[in-house]
Amino acid sequence: MAELTESNGGKTETRKGPYEDLYIYLLKGLVAEKDEPELGAAFVGNWTEDDSSFLFFGRPAEKEVGRLLRTRPELELIETHHFTYEQWQGGWLKPFKVEDFVVVPPWEKEGAGEEGLRIMLDPGVVFGNGLHPTTRDCLKALAYARKKRPFKRVLDLGTGTGVLALAAGFLGAECVLAVDINPLCVKTAAKNIALNGLEEVIRVVDGQAEDFVHDPADLVVANIHHEVIKRLLASGGFRDTEKFIISGLMRSQFRDVKAHLEMMQIQIHREWDHDMTWFTLLAEKESQL
Ligand code: SAH
Repeated sequence: MAELTESNGGKTETRKGPYEDLYIYLLKGLVAEKDEPELGAAFVGNWTEDDSSFLFFGRPAEKEVGRLLRTRPELELIETHHFTYEQWQGGWLKPFKVEDFVVVPPWEKEGAGEEGLRIMLDPGVVFGNGLHPTTRDCLKALAYARKKRPFKRVLDLGTGTGVLALAAGFLGAECVLAVDINPLCVKTAAKNIALNGLEEVIRVVDGQAEDFVHDPADLVVANIHHEVIKRLLASGGFRDTEKFIISGLMRSQFRDVKAHLEMMQIQIHREWDHDMTWFTLLAEKESQL
């Protein structure tokens, strides 16, 4: 458990958390889930991408990685990295309030203070800690959409930590399907769903957004790369959805998506931007306005 004391403009802040440092080992080849129990107590997660594995540890793990390489000779160590958790996450995680939500790291249970729908979130090492403006704007968009009309079935494409699926669950959705292509995200989201007791409401699956965008839902939220959004739109995704939130778009990408939606005769109901850099939109079918 990291516990740092920092002087912040005369105020002394005590920082707590389960992760302090991250030691990352990039291996060529895929480390299987069955190998993970051998990686020791400091193992945080395995991020796989194409035919590479990024193994994350909370302390140096030469010994554990060495042992793995001996038992799995097809794997090869390519490089190692060291970051503080704060560097990795782009800031120190502490409770924050956005609209109706208070997002709280589980190690801050006691100190959160603020009133609101409390989302307990341990992001581990995946995207979606709530510090990024697109996540925050999606939370605002969800709260706004809910105030206009309740939703029952929600699809969260590119769930990461599961933060938006959890928000939808706390806003009263009856059934949320959260999808991510990255197995470590799926594991992290599943952990967060359990942490919030929403296992009955949210199902998380390892898969491609492209394969789920046509699933029935009365709200789809997709905070995902523009390339994926383009593929989803090209395949006729969102066409039949009552309302949807698209985010993760930079200015020119936002213009392209808007033009595409106009072509589909879909109205953008509201937009959010962060310093005119990151854009989020809420679109609704005309009849629902
Ligand atoms: N929803 C979270 C995380 C967004 S990051 C938030 O708003 O903060 C985008 C996520 O999309 C990542 O976790 C990434 O693994 C996932 N992703 C990228 N391409 C994907 C695809 N084609 N299908 C499903 N998930 C994808």
